[in-house]
Amino acid sequence: MPLTAKVCILAYILAGFAVAGFVGMSNGGLGFGRPELLLILSALVCASWLRPIMMFSDGSSQAHHMDEGFFVLMCLLLPPAGAVMAFVVATSLAQMIRRRAAVKSIFNVSQIVLSTSCGLLAARLIAPPRGDITLAQLGAAAVGAGVYFVVNSLSLAVILSMTGSSSIRSALFDGLEVRGRMLGGSVSLGLVSAVALRDVPFSAPIIVLPFIAFRQALSGHFQARHDRGRLLGLFEATLAVNHTMGTKDVEDALRTSAASLLRGRDVSIARTEPPKGAPVMAVPLEVAGRTRWLTVNGRNRSEPFDAADRALLEALAATGSAALENSSLYEERRREEERLVAITSSLDEGVCAFDFAGRLTFMNPAAEELLGVREEEAIGSDAEASELEPLTSAALRSLRDGEHMKDARTVFGRRGGATFPVEVTCSPIVSEGAVSGAVLAFRDISERLAAEAQLEFHAFHDALTTLPNRTIFLDRLQHALRSASRTGETHAVLFADVDRFKLTNDSLGHHAGDELLVCIANRLRPIIREGDTLARFGGDEFTILLENVGGVEAAEALATRILEAVRRPITLDDGRIILASLSIGIALATAGTNADDVLHDADVAMYQAKHRGTGLYQTFDAVAMGNRSAEWLDLEIALRRAIENEELTVHYQPIVATDSGRIVGAEALVRWEHPKRGTLPPSDFIALAEETGLILPIGRRVLEQACSQAKEWSENGMPISVAVNLSPRQFQQHDLGRDVRTVLADTGLAPNQLCLEITESLAMADIDRTIHLLVDLKYLGVRLAIDDFGTGYSSLNYLKRFPIDIVKLDRSFVQELDVSTVDTAIVSAVVNLAEAAGMTTVAEGVETPEQLARLIGMGCPMVQSYHLAKPMTAEALTALLSKYRAG
Ligand code: C2E
Ligand code: MG
Ligand code: MG
Repeated sequence: MPLTAKVCILAYILAGFAVAGFVGMSNGGLGFGRPELLLILSALVCASWLRPIMMFSDGSSQAHHMDEGFFVLMCLLLPPAGAVMAFVVATSLAQMIRRRAAVKSIFNVSQIVLSTSCGLLAARLIAPPRGDITLAQLGAAAVGAGVYFVVNSLSLAVILSMTGSSSIRSALFDGLEVRGRMLGGSVSLGLVSAVALRDVPFSAPIIVLPFIAFRQALSGHFQARHDRGRLLGLFEATLAVNHTMGTKDVEDALRTSAASLLRGRDVSIARTEPPKGAPVMAVPLEVAGRTRWLTVNGRNRSEPFDAADRALLEALAATGSAALENSSLYEERRREEERLVAITSSLDEGVCAFDFAGRLTFMNPAAEELLGVREEEAIGSDAEASELEPLTSAALRSLRDGEHMKDARTVFGRRGGATFPVEVTCSPIVSEGAVSGAVLAFRDISERLAAEAQLEFHAFHDALTTLPNRTIFLDRLQHALRSASRTGETHAVLFADVDRFKLTNDSLGHHAGDELLVCIANRLRPIIREGDTLARFGGDEFTILLENVGGVEAAEALATRILEAVRRPITLDDGRIILASLSIGIALATAGTNADDVLHDADVAMYQAKHRGTGLYQTFDAVAMGNRSAEWLDLEIALRRAIENEELTVHYQPIVATDSGRIVGAEALVRWEHPKRGTLPPSDFIALAEETGLILPIGRRVLEQACSQAKEWSENGMPISVAVNLSPRQFQQHDLGRDVRTVLADTGLAPNQLCLEITESLAMADIDRTIHLLVDLKYLGVRLAIDDFGTGYSSLNYLKRFPIDIVKLDRSFVQELDVSTVDTAIVSAVVNLAEAAGMTTVAEGVETPEQLARLIGMGCPMVQSYHLAKPMTAEALTALLSKYRAG
C-alpha cells in the first residue's frame, strides 16, 4: 500500500474521531442510550458485514452491508457516541472474524467512523434531537444516511484510486443505480423500524427480521442475476471457443473466457495438476487421450471459489476439450491438405479434384498453367461454358459410372481458344462405400506426339531428300498390286539410277553428292501426279509408282519429262555447276505380278538403258531380255552394285624364290565380299565381268590397289613386286598403256616392281598385235608375264618373240609331276628354255612337299603355291613379310 494511502487512512481516523468528538460533545457527553438496542444493532451490523449482499458486475464484485439502514436507526434511537461505538465494534469484530489484513481493517473502521460521524453531524445540524422522533428528525436522519453514503463512497474511491485498484470515477459510479436503490431500501427500512421501535420498545429483537428478509431478497436477486450472467458468459465462451480453429487460438479463447467468467486474473493450461491446497481452481482438459489442467488463479480473496464456479469451469473445460479435439483434427487435416498441395504443386501433371456433384474443388499449379485458368476463378465458375468443360464431363463420367479412366487421349482447351492433346487419368474417390468425388490428372502430350510423328516420318522417309523410303514404296506397290487383282488396273514402276554418281561423289565429295540427290528429288517431285509415289529406294536410286497408268506410253512420257528435268545444269551451293543424268527402267505391273518381280524387271530395264549410254530410259521387254538367263542378269546387276559399294577387294598370294625361300613378289587376286554369300572367288564373276565390260573398272581398281599396296610395302622396307592379271578386254583397251602409267605415277611405285600377267591363250590370239601391245607396256618399264603357260597353244618359240620376263607354268603340269613323266619332262624343258631365254619361271599350284622338292631339283627358281602360302589379305601378307624380315 502506498504511503499516500496510509496517510489518507490516518487522516480518516483523525477526521472521524474529530467529527465524532464534536458530535458527541455537541450532544452533551458520551451516553450509549438503550443498551439492548445497542447490542442488537451492533450484532446486525456485524452480521451484515460478515454476510454482505454480493453484487456482481462484469469484472468485479461489490459487497453491500445496509449500513445506511442501521445508521438511520442508530441516528434516531441512540446517542451519537452509542451509534459510533456500535459501528466501530461491529465492523471491527467482523474484520477479525474474516481475518482481514490489519491495515484493511483499520481503514474500514476509520471509514465507518468518518462516515457515521459526518452523517450524524449532518442530521443533528438539520434537526437536533428532542427526545421524540419528529418528521423533521426522520428527514434529517435520511439526509444523514445520504451523507454517510457519500462520505463512505468517497473515502473508498479515494483509497481505491490511491492503491491503484480502480479509478475514482468507476469506484464512484459503477453500480451507482443499484447502490442508490439499496440505499433507498435500507434507509426506508431503517426509518420504519425506528418509528416502530419508538412506539413499541419490546419489538427490538424482531427488528432483525425485516433486515434479514431484505438481505435475503436482495441477495437472491443478485445471485440470480449473477447466475444468469454466468450462463450467458458460458454460452459466449462456448461460442468463442468453438469459433476458433487452431489449437493455440482455442487455448487463448479458453483462457480469456475462463478469466472473464471466473474473474481470475491468471488462467493457465498446464501439463501438471496444481498442488493440493493452492488457492486456485483446476479442472482436467482431456485432449487426444492426454490430460491437461485448466487452472484459474488470482481471484479476489474476498470471493473464494465455490461449487458454482467449479461447475462453470468444468462446463467450460468440457467445451474446450471438444474444441481442442476438433482443432487437432482440423490441424491434422490442414497439414494433410498442405502436404497434398505440396506434392501436387511439384508435379508437371495437371491435377484437379471434383466433388460428388462434379464441381471443381481443387486445381494444382500445373493445371492452372496448362489451362490458363487460376484456381480461384475456376472454382465455382460455370464449368459448362468454360475450358473446364472436357475435364468436368470426364469427371462426371467417373462419378456416374465409377469408371477408371487410364491414359485416355483427348483434347483440352486453353484459355484463349488454343487446344492441346492430353493423356487423362480419372478415378472416382470412394469413401465409406459411396462415390464422393473424382480426381483427374492430365499431361500435355503435344511434344510427345510431335516426337512420335517425327519418328514415324523418319521410319518411312529418307532423311536427306524427305522422300518416302523403300519401306513405304514397297508397301504402296504391294497395295497397288493387290487392288490390281480386283480392278484389273495396270500400274507402272520406274526405276531411276543416277549416271556416274560414284564419280561425282568421289571427285566432288559426299556433300556435293548429297546436294545432287536433293536437287534431283526436288526436280522429280513436281512432275509426279498426286496419288503416285516417288521414293528414294537406295543410294542413288529413285523409284516411282504410277497407279492405274493405262499403258506404257504414259510411263514413257513421264520418263521423258523426268530425263529432261534432270538434264538441266545443276548449280551446287559452292557455285560449281554440274551436269547429271538418270537412267530409267520401266516395268508394267498387272494383276498377278508380285512386287519383287516388277522391281526386278524395272531394274533390269534400267541396266539395259545404262548399257546403251547415259540419260536414257528403257522399257522392260520380256521377250528380248528373256534371251539372257534371269540369273545372269541378276548377277550382272549385283556385280554393278558391288563395284559401286566397293565390295570387291584384293588378296595377295606370295611368290617365293626356291633358293632362298624368301618372298620376292605377290600376285593380286580379286575377291568379291558378297554381303550374303560371303567371299566369292574370281571364277564366279570374272567371266561375267568380262562379258559385260565391268572388268574394266574392276581391273583398274585392282591395278590401283595393288600398286599402292606394293609402294607401301616398299616404303616399309619390304620391297616385293606385285603381279596384276590383265583380262582380254583390258588388254585390248587402246589406252591401257596410259592407264598403267597414270596409276604408277599416282602411286609412286617403281615400274619394275609391277608385273602384268596376260594369259597364254590371249597372247596367242593375235600374235602381232600382242607383240605390239607388249612392247608398248614394256616401254613403261614394267615386267610382263605369260600366265597359265601350257594350257593354250604352247609354243616356246613364240615366247621368244614376246618381250616377256616371266613364264607362269600352269598348275595342271605341276600337279601331274608325280604321275606323268611327260609332264615332268615338259616342266623341266620349260624351266631350262626359259632360263636360256633370260626369263624366269614361276611354277603355280604347288600343293605338296614332293612337288616342291622336284621343282627345286629341276632348278625352278620360283613357286606360287598353296603349299607355301595361300592368297591372303594385304594385312596378313604385311604381317608375314614383317616376320620374314625380322627372321
Ligand atoms: P591365275 O592368274 O592363274 O591365278 C592363280 C590362281 O591359282 C589363283 O586362283 C590362285 O589362288 C590359284 N592357286 C595358286 N596356288 C595354288 C595351288 O597350290 N593350288 C591350287 N589349286 N590353286 C592355286 P584364283 O585366285 O581363284 O584366281 C583364278 C583366276 O582368276 C586367276 O588365275 C586369274 O586368271 C583370274 N583372276 C584373278 N584375279 C584377277 C584380276 O584381278 N583380274 C583378272 N583379269 N583376272 C583375275
Ligand atoms: Mg595370274
Ligand atoms: Mg595362272
